[in-house]
Amino acid sequence: MPAILVTGANRGIGLALVEALLERGDRIAATARDPARADALLALAGRAPDRLSVIGLDVADPASVAGLAGRLAEAGLTRLDVLVNNAGIIGPSRQSTLDMDFDGFAETLAVNTLGPLRVVQAVLPLLKAGREARILTITSAMGSMSHTTSDRIAYRASKAAVNKVMQGLGTDLGPQGIAVAVAHPGWVRTDMGGQSAAVAPADSARGLIGLIDRMRQGEPCSFHDWSGRAVPW
Ligand code: NDP
Repeated sequence: MPAILVTGANRGIGLALVEALLERGDRIAATARDPARADALLALAGRAPDRLSVIGLDVADPASVAGLAGRLAEAGLTRLDVLVNNAGIIGPSRQSTLDMDFDGFAETLAVNTLGPLRVVQAVLPLLKAGREARILTITSAMGSMSHTTSDRIAYRASKAAVNKVMQGLGTDLGPQGIAVAVAHPGWVRTDMGGQSAAVAPADSARGLIGLIDRMRQGEPCSFHDWSGRAVPW
């Protein structure tokens, strides 16, 4: 049974991923910043207590990330086959190149860029113990360097930066048998995407799981969207 860690799983795309992974019988560790208030996750865990563990994690808090492997071990997880770095924020309300909330920009980088790398480093021993281990980081087409659009530049920059970090990780972890990819989930109906977004969370989740299944050891880090289309870096 594949063992999968999903960050930021108490709502939105992360929650939809957990629902879809549970349906197919995987063993899941789903993280939430405040597990006691992660009602939807806790309800799912109540129905499948052997296969879903709800774990506390703030990806921007180094101490929280440092304790992650210990909390996974307490939940009985000593190996991971898949890590999905999903947690993310859109960033501050004031984030244009000419009028920037710099504290908000720094927070956006801490969550969207540094967070995924911290989490990878924290669970690397578990991934090394996994079978054909894979890391999928949820990025955004808004981070693609092929777009010159400049709105929400802190968010765009944080996703462009995490793409580069993940590409580098793919280079460094490939020889150790760990595959790395980044994916755009589509414009998804969540708190972040808004209710007029085009894609239902469940459809995005199914597409993202398909991408994970198609990741292969030895291939360089790729950038696809939820429907399987390649996205330009
Ligand atoms: P939501 O805002 O619906 O959910 C975000 C999730 O991330 C929540 O579980 C939230 O937890 C968690 N999170 C935020 N900050 C932290 C943190 N510091 N530590 C741990 N968890 C945290 O977003 P989506 O589900 O829409 O987005 C998921 C991912 O998909 C993000 O990376 C986003 O950038 C990306 N994406 C989304 C798109 C869309 O259209 N929706 C489009 C392109 C990319 P909490 O409830 O505690 O805040």
